Amino acid sequence: MSKIKIHHAAEVMVITVDNPPINAGSTEVRQGLLDAIHLLESNIDLKAAVIIGSGNTFIAGSDIKEFSQPLADPHLPLVIEAIENCSKPVVCALHGAALGGGFELALGCDARIALEGTILGLPEVTLGIIPGAGGTQRLPRLVGVEKSIELICSGSRIKADVALELGIVSEVVKTELLTHAITLARSMIGVKNRIRDRSTPAVLAEMVAAASKKALKAGKNRPQVQRAIEMICNSLKLPIDEALAIEREVFQGLRTSVEAKALRHQFFSERKLFKALGFNDAKPQTLNQIAVIGAGTMGSGIAMACLNAGYAVILLDQNEVALANGVKRVEQFYESRLHGGKMHQETVLELLGRFLHSSNWNAIASADLVIEAVFEDIAVKHQVFKEIDDHAKEDALLASNTSYLDIDAIAAASKNPSRVFGLHFFSPAQVMKLIEVVRCKATSSIAMATGFSFAKRLGKMPIISANSFGFIGNRIYAAYRRQCEYMLEEGAYPEQIDKALEDYGFAMGPFAVADLSGLDIAWGMRKSQAATRNPEHRYVSIPDALCLANRLGRKTGAGYYLYAEGAKEKSTDPIVHEMIDAASKAKGLQRRTVTPEEIVKRVLLTMINEVAHLLSENVAREASDCDIALVNGYGFPRWQGGPTFIASEMGQALLDQGLRELAILSGPGFVLANTDVLFKNSRD
Ligand code: NAD
Repeated sequence: MSKIKIHHAAEVMVITVDNPPINAGSTEVRQGLLDAIHLLESNIDLKAAVIIGSGNTFIAGSDIKEFSQPLADPHLPLVIEAIENCSKPVVCALHGAALGGGFELALGCDARIALEGTILGLPEVTLGIIPGAGGTQRLPRLVGVEKSIELICSGSRIKADVALELGIVSEVVKTELLTHAITLARSMIGVKNRIRDRSTPAVLAEMVAAASKKALKAGKNRPQVQRAIEMICNSLKLPIDEALAIEREVFQGLRTSVEAKALRHQFFSERKLFKALGFNDAKPQTLNQIAVIGAGTMGSGIAMACLNAGYAVILLDQNEVALANGVKRVEQFYESRLHGGKMHQETVLELLGRFLHSSNWNAIASADLVIEAVFEDIAVKHQVFKEIDDHAKEDALLASNTSYLDIDAIAAASKNPSRVFGLHFFSPAQVMKLIEVVRCKATSSIAMATGFSFAKRLGKMPIISANSFGFIGNRIYAAYRRQCEYMLEEGAYPEQIDKALEDYGFAMGPFAVADLSGLDIAWGMRKSQAATRNPEHRYVSIPDALCLANRLGRKTGAGYYLYAEGAKEKSTDPIVHEMIDAASKAKGLQRRTVTPEEIVKRVLLTMINEVAHLLSENVAREASDCDIALVNGYGFPRWQGGPTFIASEMGQALLDQGLRELAILSGPGFVLANTDVLFKNSRD
């Protein structure tokens, strides 16, 4: 079946892209468009054309699978060249989304008209590439270099009304897009209006420098962002054909890079996550009101996440002061959005109009979902679940935000454990993308399906986990931190480890993170596990020594680093070096140089090993879920793809060899995983 449909509206040829579900630009689409343009040129009865998408959208992007292989002819630049060289005008009619190659195609036409609400954008940088079909040359000719840097380097999307203001589209219509597009095409008969014939508006060098600096900072200096800026600047100084040829070459080079492959892996992992989930075909329950129990750090953040997604929220805390503080946090958050120009007053008023708070359990009577975020203490959780049972509707779903407690044990306090599950948010809950949706022994499929779709509506990445200590993310993180502690003992210092990992791309090194969240949390956990810990296993005492010295991190002014009063930055503390040296000596370890390469390698191998355990134990459903968790909850650099991507790049033989060496370095207590689980798909 052809992906391009053609019909004639008198002298106007209507070319419809018909490649459901998103009309992605594929080889067949490109070939069909090219044929249509040739037909337009050769048919003397036809004087103009309209290109439009069928169904809900224009071309919402390229077929990303194609990017992993050599691209088949005809390439998009050839199609655009044909439109530009055609003697008859071509109008692009946009609705739904015009993204990536779809937007570039539109820029190759003589005019653009959009339906209200259409979104437009060039998201290529988010896939490690740059627009490769003229986006970096034609957009600056329309909107200037500064705006192009902002739009292309962020990969952001704009709405049709903004595109109209910027002069990207010439008309925005409320209905009858095709009719209006045909009228526009008719009015242009005999006229060509190619963007390539314009020149990019001149701009001061300082303005370009400022826009570039901002874009590079936001884009973490990634190569595709740097190259996009260079290409956009070329539009000021090079003839368009020369600049287009360079753009294409750079696009092709980036497309085949490991970094772009890693970003595609993330893209497909996320798509798989949202697609593959059938909870025995259970339909999610409708949720209107959410009750959040506990108005602390997490409770107030969760309340904001729910308010942002349009839910009515009731925040409950038994402690009046804690409740008032939690409510204040929520209100201050929206006030700052208002003052920062990020939200309109009406939006804030509407949002806060959906926000109730109380210290009385009767207030949760009409909630459809109750999320508890009270102290991490099983007795408190039991007491809270009893109150919920007594006061919530019978069919309300109940979720715990516990980090480490056994949710089956929490659910045991409920009369109906089938409605209990875990919703593990990350701090700050209104910002962090990751949520672990935890399935317990008795959790019903409806509860899981509802939890998943709720998390999705919050705009989060919901990872399904079994009810197991630390779930997925914290389990990998604990293994990672342990490995870093081994390296402290062997010869590295915290700042060396943090720097090596930050240079690799982690948002923060593990010791800076530990100082930020407070060393006492993990200390409490270690103390609670002390009685059951195997004395034969390697145990690093450095964190305990820091805690005993009341170095609990930022909050006490010292932890792995020193935080001098008034100082903005952390600084290295010689006392910590002495404590670490002493710990090595006490174990009879000869300190040695641990290189940044060794640090990164050991951390990645440790993560891969833990992912393999999680899969073997059926805690995680998909290897790629673990990559998503690390990127969205733990500051793992997205452009490195995640542990399982790295494992697949290494191949099983090399990985197993690396893990055997890691096991020797790590010593007793390190359990080598069977990596077959990571490679099963490649063998199937
Ligand atoms: P927090 O101490 O800031 O807040 C807990 C709140 O619960 C307090 O306001 C307290 O008054 C209230 N509370 C205690 N007992 C209650 C009861 N019986 N009824 C009603 N309210 C009660 O704690 P937090 O950091 O927000 O953590 C809450 C939960 O979220 C814990 O289970 C924690 O493990 C989990 N969690 C925390 C983080 C984090 O980074 N802080 C991240 C993920 C999950």
